[in-house]
Amino acid sequence: MANQYILLILSDPQATRNLRERVLVPAGFRVNVVKDWKAADEILQAEASPDLVILSEKLESRDRSGHARSLIKRFPFLPVLLLPNKISETGILQAIRDGYFDCLRVPLKPNEVLNTVNRALERRQGWIEYAREVARQSTAPMDQRIDSLEVIERIGRKVASSLDLDNLLTSVVEAAVQLCAAEEGSLLLLDESTGELYVRAERNFQQEMIDTFRLPVSDPLSAQVMRTGEPLLINEKTPRMINTSFSVYSLLCVPLMVHDHAIGILEVDHRQSGNSFESEQVTMLMALAGYAAIAIENTRLYLHSESERLKLESILTGIEEALVVVDHDRRLVLINRKACEAFGIAEQNVIGKRVSEVFPSSELLEILVDPDHTGPSRIEVGLADGRVLNAQITALPEIGLVVTMQDITHLKELDRIKGDFVNTVSHDLRSPLTAILGYLELIGRVGSLNPRQREFIHRIEISVNNITALINDLLDLGRIETGFDVRKEIVPLAVLIQYTVDGMKNRITEKNQSLQMVIGDDLPPVLGNPVRLRQMLSNLISNSLKYTPIGGTITVSAHAEAGQIILQFSDNGLGIPPADLPYVFDKFYRASNVPIDAPGTGLGLAIVKSIVENHRGRVWVDSAPGNGTRFTIVLPTAERDL
Ligand code: ADP
Repeated sequence: MANQYILLILSDPQATRNLRERVLVPAGFRVNVVKDWKAADEILQAEASPDLVILSEKLESRDRSGHARSLIKRFPFLPVLLLPNKISETGILQAIRDGYFDCLRVPLKPNEVLNTVNRALERRQGWIEYAREVARQSTAPMDQRIDSLEVIERIGRKVASSLDLDNLLTSVVEAAVQLCAAEEGSLLLLDESTGELYVRAERNFQQEMIDTFRLPVSDPLSAQVMRTGEPLLINEKTPRMINTSFSVYSLLCVPLMVHDHAIGILEVDHRQSGNSFESEQVTMLMALAGYAAIAIENTRLYLHSESERLKLESILTGIEEALVVVDHDRRLVLINRKACEAFGIAEQNVIGKRVSEVFPSSELLEILVDPDHTGPSRIEVGLADGRVLNAQITALPEIGLVVTMQDITHLKELDRIKGDFVNTVSHDLRSPLTAILGYLELIGRVGSLNPRQREFIHRIEISVNNITALINDLLDLGRIETGFDVRKEIVPLAVLIQYTVDGMKNRITEKNQSLQMVIGDDLPPVLGNPVRLRQMLSNLISNSLKYTPIGGTITVSAHAEAGQIILQFSDNGLGIPPADLPYVFDKFYRASNVPIDAPGTGLGLAIVKSIVENHRGRVWVDSAPGNGTRFTIVLPTAERDL
């Protein structure tokens, strides 16, 4: 009891000295003395409160506000001894009734005082131990519940963070056995092909049993759990056969539910008698079964999506087309083997890199690095080894750009051979045609012709001129496509437009059409071949005149914008049917609504397209039958091109 802390609330210095110096301090107690209630209150509220209080009757009898009573009430485990003025049986009795532990006898005898003090402290110790025991008993179930919740929470975290299903399900069964204080437990899953339940994870099962155990779903108990989706709790006095392989005294079995459908069961059991399961263990087992079901379903979904991903990946890798996908930041999302081969890119570690770091410079790279690419959806890409790819570019808002590319080298080669052939034939045809025209002219000079003969000769002349125009177009196209027009100079487009229009004045007047020109001030020049550019303008304007009826209006406009010149040729003529629109730039293509007698070879727009592309520009058409037609050409200005 020594070294315990005693508070003396005494106003009498004599009594204080007697108690403290002669009895308590020599006996090893720590003693604090206060003379009034205010100081006593401060000490009692401090953290290190005393183990015993001795209060003089003098102070108590002056205690109008009931401090002594309140002290006894507030600290029920704190024994308070009364130091009376004088001892009397009735006084002692009254003090004990008032809640004092005892009274000290006066005059004070050290042994007696120590006896009483020690008794009081022993009693206090007894009270404290009793209170602790009561508290322990009342919090034990709560502690157990907290432990259980911790185990369940740990399993929940594991489900969320691990993909190792074997390990996870074993942890679930172990937790089930631990929380239900069971002898053994197992997690059985339904084998859809045989309709049997097999052991997927277990705790304390014999190895032989794990290997051979198959429980038909027709087994009444498991069938009931699987069918109803409800838990089953059996606490039997006598062993009950669960199936032919084992018998138990008590069993707790809950279903593993996925989307209202049981995929297996989680069970714990006791093989020894005298143990049973509680209903609250059902709730815990249900929670664990819920986690197991989530883990199994997550794994199934993961494996499914992984196998779909692998399937897709092997399709993308295996296809003959080259494929490139980039995101909105122009970083590589996907590139297949074919594309890597084509551009000489090492397949490793390129995903996520910027296209400019990965791709060698090419026509394709120009489009891929353009953050707001809206241009053509098809381009031809020349490779270093001479091959040509046809690239389709598709913008997908939620991804970025998808580019698929086919090798069209053989088609380009065929096209070249065809072009060569046409060129040679056209060339060889031109001389005899010139001779025919020459002789036609001579016929009239060598003798007189009757009107019918003149008429026939005129028709022959028209036909030969048509064939010559066709041959000239073919030869031009051949030259442009083979890239012979390499010489380029600064061309003032505004002047060229004016010349071209001036050259067509007669045709405009003949058809009573009006031609308006809207040319921006200070239209910058382009770098190009003036002959070809004039041919381009001429083909487009003459088409507008040709396919616009008498009295129609044609507008030619040109303006500069961000280093580009935008040219537009609009008319209010017959328009082009939607079905023909994609093909009007093809060689020899004429739309279905062209009047039979409209002269033309179907090569004019093919020539325009070749010229525009040779000048690194783009051309497209907007049209609707009856609403007229508008051709747009975009060319880089000379400044940007240099
Ligand atoms: P063509 O010698 O037949 O004019 P082009 O190659 O110049 O051949 O034009 C191809 C076809 O495009 C034309 O046959 C016609 O159907 C259509 N086309 C071209 N320009 C116009 C236009 N301004 N208005 C309507 N159709 C046009």
